[in-house]
Amino acid sequence: FFERERERERESISGAGAERGGGTQNVKQAPGSELSVRSPMQETRVPPPSFCYILSAHPSVGQIDVIEEDRISKLYQPPVTRCLREILQSDDHSTRCSFYARVIYQRSQQREIWLMVTDVSLQMQDENNSGLPKTVPVCVAPSCVLSQEVVEALAEAAPHSFLFRDTLRAQGQIVCVERSVLLLQKPLVGMASSAPSCELTSPVKLNELDSVTQVNSVCSVQGTVVGVDESTAFSWPTCDLCGNERLEQSPGDRGAFSCGDCSRVVISPLPRKHLQVFLDCPSRPQCTVRVKLSQASVSSLLRFAACEDGSYEVQSVLGKEVGLLNCFVRSVTTHPASCVGLEEIKLLTAGRASSRHCPSPQEL
Ligand SMILES: [Zn+2]
Repeated sequence: FFERERERERESISGAGAERGGGTQNVKQAPGSELSVRSPMQETRVPPPSFCYILSAHPSVGQIDVIEEDRISKLYQPPVTRCLREILQSDDHSTRCSFYARVIYQRSQQREIWLMVTDVSLQMQDENNSGLPKTVPVCVAPSCVLSQEVVEALAEAAPHSFLFRDTLRAQGQIVCVERSVLLLQKPLVGMASSAPSCELTSPVKLNELDSVTQVNSVCSVQGTVVGVDESTAFSWPTCDLCGNERLEQSPGDRGAFSCGDCSRVVISPLPRKHLQVFLDCPSRPQCTVRVKLSQASVSSLLRFAACEDGSYEVQSVLGKEVGLLNCFVRSVTTHPASCVGLEEIKLLTAGRASSRHCPSPQEL
């Protein structure tokens, strides 16, 4: 029998994505079935299935026999993919949706993974129309089982495209939950099929920070430095050869450091600095915008402000223009005051696989 999922409320059933178990097995799409829905020749437009069915045996049956040669039921209709713009513009809430998208940034928070995704439909929008975001956060809940291939792809510091199948759209968010499936899309494979191209050719654009920017999203920001959070500013020495950030104080020689990775005394350690600044942003007036800067931005900001001893003059930083910086939105508060907490990030880009300074043994 068919067991309907609880979150589904719609009755209009046109097709059902039937799935068994965790749904991690590769179910091949029935040839032509998706094309027939999309074909302009077809007169009756079939709305895409917006929920999935779980096919299971009735408890009283006890056991079911699997028919080996017919793995996919004739009742099965693959989920119809839509572009992200269509999904965001539709009013369907608490429904399942499927789409192709590229992950441009990811972040783990407790047991959830937040994936910032985009596709051509969001990137190609006119600057001043629609009000839709250029990127969308997708929350991968712990209940969503990721295949080993997907886990490995996400572990690489490179952008990957995925088919997000049967994700749940609820309360303004897209969430991968139980029975949502992520499938890695390999470049060049499947492009000739019905899969819409999600290949983005130009660099990904982000929305600039504004009044609708939400927490756990990404945005770009530019502005003038109006303050430095001196209570959180600190610096630490790193190895000038390998980038090791955990130097040890050399015994006997106060002030000198040694690097455990290089097994040597570090004569001229490179200082790294943690710095948060407050910005005056034209796109977000009347709002306190605090940005935790990346090392590259810290270095560039302090280039002319640093003193001989490694400290710096706050005064010489104030008034400096920074941006556009790509940022992850860590917090947004409106009461008692309007505040946004940002962290400068590096988007995943092809060809720049790692931001670490340490060369791997193969490179040495
Ligand atoms: Zn070292």
